[in-house]
Amino acid sequence: MEARHYRIGTCANCDSPEITLQTPLFCSQQCRQAAELVRYVRGCRRDGRDQLTDVQEAMRMRLAMVLGGGYPERERVVGAGTRAEVFRRAGGRCEQCGRVLDFDQSRGDPDAIATIQHVHGDANELDNLKAFCRRCNIDDAQSRFVPLQRGSAAAKMAAELERRWSAAEPLRLCDDELEWKTNWQRLTKAARGWLQTKADA
Ligand SMILES: [Zn+2]
Ligand SMILES: [Zn+2]
Repeated sequence: MEARHYRIGTCANCDSPEITLQTPLFCSQQCRQAAELVRYVRGCRRDGRDQLTDVQEAMRMRLAMVLGGGYPERERVVGAGTRAEVFRRAGGRCEQCGRVLDFDQSRGDPDAIATIQHVHGDANELDNLKAFCRRCNIDDAQSRFVPLQRGSAAAKMAAELERRWSAAEPLRLCDDELEWKTNWQRLTKAARGWLQTKADA
């Protein structure tokens, strides 16, 4: 079988040499999430989950976020205490539509799952946070998406990601939905060693 693409010392997703000791496999949060999305979609296609409407919606959301530069997940980590306070303040209801939130995903309604909404930007202070149901969270995110311009960088990236998740065999090492979870730690170590050797030379 043809070797899957990865060159040590470059970004596993885009081949950029702009990697660091901190994150030696991906040049940016966007690239890490792009590869994660390719593996997620490949996994969904493999087991048929890609036929479910809520999974299709999740795939579109994640694609839009990756195309928009990536979801700022590191910046938007809300501590457990703050989360609890937001939900308490909201009385356990969605602050947008008023529905009773589902906190342990026991009701089988994916729309009612409790989420935290950032009002503006990434600040994690109480006055920038709201309790939203998953449905309102998705609707709000979708209302901010801009349609892809034909020929734009984002449209090209979308086409390339689609080519990668549709390929019969993973085109890159980081696209391998079955093997990556056992490979990435070894690769991280190898790439870090390579960077250190280069720095010492
Ligand atoms: Zn990259
Ligand atoms: Zn709601």
